[in-house]
Amino acid sequence: MAKVLRVAGEVDSWCTRCRLMLNHRIVSMKGAKAHQVECLTCRESHLFRAHPPGEKPRIERESTAAPRVPRSTVATRAEQVRIGREQNWERATGGHASTEFKPYSVSAVFQEADLLRHKKFGDGVVLRVVDTQKIEVLFRDEARMLAHSLPD
Ligand SMILES: [Zn+2]
Repeated sequence: MAKVLRVAGEVDSWCTRCRLMLNHRIVSMKGAKAHQVECLTCRESHLFRAHPPGEKPRIERESTAAPRVPRSTVATRAEQVRIGREQNWERATGGHASTEFKPYSVSAVFQEADLLRHKKFGDGVVLRVVDTQKIEVLFRDEARMLAHSLPD
């Protein structure tokens, strides 16, 4: 037979002081559920808890977890880097006649700040000459390492 809960009745609740599931006297009700209870062992009044703290439903714990700031911050930073790179690329390549872009080939020789046109990656600007056979080129979508001045 199910126990009918009522004020001054008894209910099993987690005691926040004794840290045990113990018999409590109901001090107040919220709808059909016990709300405030008094521990019959330590006489502490506290909110009714049907379960020990560790057995709380998971959803409740997740909703109180730290906000997802780190994730969105990372996305925002990546976005900023992308926008910054695109602006740099536009500053470097914008307003130049297409004749100023040197067609890219692995045997061509490039200098820093040279404009080039790559068949696959499009227009780019040489950021730096890494070594005698390697250049770093900024394209609209990303910077890439390309070979240059290789023997044909
Ligand atoms: Zn207690």
